[in-house]
Amino acid sequence: MTTPVSLQGIPYDANSSAWRGQAAGPGAIRQALLAPSANAWSELGVDFANAPDFHDAGDLLIGDWPPLEANLAIRAATEGLIDRGHLVLSLGGDHSIAHPLIAAHATRYPGLAVLHIDAHGDLYDDYEGNPFSHASPFARLLEAGVITRRVQVGIRTLNAHQREQVKRFGVECYEMHAHEALPQLAFDGPFYISLDLDAMDPAHCPGVSHHEPGGLTVREVIRLVHRTKGELVGADIVELNPSRDLNDTTAMVAARFVKEIGARLLTGVVVG
Ligand code: MN
Ligand code: MN
Repeated sequence: MTTPVSLQGIPYDANSSAWRGQAAGPGAIRQALLAPSANAWSELGVDFANAPDFHDAGDLLIGDWPPLEANLAIRAATEGLIDRGHLVLSLGGDHSIAHPLIAAHATRYPGLAVLHIDAHGDLYDDYEGNPFSHASPFARLLEAGVITRRVQVGIRTLNAHQREQVKRFGVECYEMHAHEALPQLAFDGPFYISLDLDAMDPAHCPGVSHHEPGGLTVREVIRLVHRTKGELVGADIVELNPSRDLNDTTAMVAARFVKEIGARLLTGVVVG
């Protein structure tokens, strides 16, 4: 017995600072999912070549729409999928899309908590004058009070302003320098995973816009996906920038996460 899951691509990078190119992310991840070098099985025993409850909802075609219009479209599409009884796994896109994605989930899952895996806090009040920047989605969500608990893992770029924001919003922030002390994570109610691929070391994931050395391994992030306790109700995988990737390495990592997060959404199985 599995729960229907929809894969939703959001090829949008208008809120990226530094380099753009994340709009090509969903296409590259879909291609990596079909790579002849790998099979379609997740480690949790789901065969994605034969998973009738796993649907591809296609890409949301919003081009370079301004942030407010883009956010409304992302939110409406996501709420539509949830209202059809689907869990939603979204592919970015820059990380600004987490704001409407999580806002949509929060209206449907009261008490929603978020596990945010990233090199960056993404808590800027605004970044270079853009309050919808991919460096700001969690500031918007937290000031709106729509998420009850926010746990960050992989963080290694906090400046004075972001440290203030961590305090202001009561974020549980586990920085990389203390990663060994990360406890077994557990959520009492529904939770959502927002996975920025730059959380992993650029040696593992070079295909991102912002390289931050000293990051997580792929295996450490798979363990978080498999073992974090609670009811996982949605997720996003963001910030793949294929123009900076090497031999599709990062696209293959993202495809692995589609399988591992997808399997957990479909089956509800928690390892350990
Ligand atoms: Mn991010
Ligand atoms: Mn990041």
